[in-house]
Amino acid sequence: MTAHPLFDIDGRTALVTGSSRGIGRAFAQGLLEAGCTVVMHGRDPDRVRAAADALEDDRVHHVAFDVTDAEAVAIGVEEAETLVGPLDVLVNNVGIQHRAPLLDFPDAAWQELLDTNLTSAFLVARAVARGMVARGRGKIVNIASVQSALARPGIAPYAATKGALKMLTQGMCADWAPAGLQINALAPGYIDTELTQALVEDAEFSRWLRARTPAARWGTAEDLIGALLFLSSPASDFVNGHTLYVDGGMLAVV
Ligand code: NDP
Repeated sequence: MTAHPLFDIDGRTALVTGSSRGIGRAFAQGLLEAGCTVVMHGRDPDRVRAAADALEDDRVHHVAFDVTDAEAVAIGVEEAETLVGPLDVLVNNVGIQHRAPLLDFPDAAWQELLDTNLTSAFLVARAVARGMVARGRGKIVNIASVQSALARPGIAPYAATKGALKMLTQGMCADWAPAGLQINALAPGYIDTELTQALVEDAEFSRWLRARTPAARWGTAEDLIGALLFLSSPASDFVNGHTLYVDGGMLAVV
């Protein structure tokens, strides 16, 4: 039994931002295992090189640039396309978190969240979509969050960036779907990664999480790969501007 041809992405090229660790690294590996040639990315050149080398596959490449620097983004996307050719799939996965009560939230942290979680997705997508629009095809997957639809104390600015990213996804769809692109968001629930280590180690929070989530557990990066492959493949060619929540049912219940 082979996989349905609608899910065939063998030979496609993909750039996954923020794939030196965590969810992005799992995405890079999932796309590689589905037959893609993958460009991994991070800010720290040594870390992303090590992550790419660990996959031990000559279809894995890597680039390093700061997604908050518009000039670096333009150069980095060009470098990625020099390495693997025109990109078929872009996964805008970079994201950071700052937690603090809103009354004490530092201005610099607010700005860093906007630059890293929201503006970066615009900058990278614009650089990649130029070629996709010219070729009349391409898949862009923006990594949002369950927080785009669920407010919790201490993370209002993070939630705001993810809510805006969801709307930016719809706007990209409005602009680029007529040219043949599909642009969707994948919104993970709580996933055990470096980003969430403090919460994973907080027994009270984990108790709340299990009670609040019908699946009654933390998610893993691997839990997200099926949704990413769907949104990267011809199986989702008529899915556009959509946000797919992969959250163990968290948003389905009160
Ligand atoms: P991690 O903190 O584990 O990894 C973040 C990645 O982003 C790293 O590769 C890091 O590179 C890169 N990065 C951060 N800032 C920059 C920058 N300015 N320029 C370039 N690269 C940068 O995060 P996760 O894997 O947990 O999260 C991935 C995405 O999923 C994020 O968008 C996050 O908001 C989202 N998400 C995560 C959830 C979770 O529970 N973990 C839940 C919902 C959404 P480097 O290694 O070089 O620093």
